[in-house]
Amino acid sequence: MYTCSYCNENGHSINKCKHPDIEILQEKIKKDAVIHYYCMLKYDFNFLLYSLKLLTIPELRIISYKNKLYNKLSYKPNKLELQKYLFFLQNNLTYLFPYYYNIEIINIFL
Ligand SMILES: [Zn+2]
Repeated sequence: MYTCSYCNENGHSINKCKHPDIEILQEKIKKDAVIHYYCMLKYDFNFLLYSLKLLTIPELRIISYKNKLYNKLSYKPNKLELQKYLFFLQNNLTYLFPYYYNIEIINIFL
């Protein structure tokens, strides 16, 4: 019997999790990727890395599964593993979400 390490429910593992919070997290990351683009252009500030650092370990882990990224984070990562994973996510998410096409959100900031 599986217990999901994201939502703690029995019957599935984290890679099969369909908890509604995952979509909310995904939408937040997409928006953050747009803000990131603006922050990098205007202030040379790595906003996406900053925002990822505020997430919990289960949230960080589910991002990888949700977006089918090859790098996974362990349950209890050490500082170095976490740091590497955060950079990995930041690099891959900015590539994954074509934020520069999302003129509507960018216009809010410009
Ligand atoms: Zn779950």
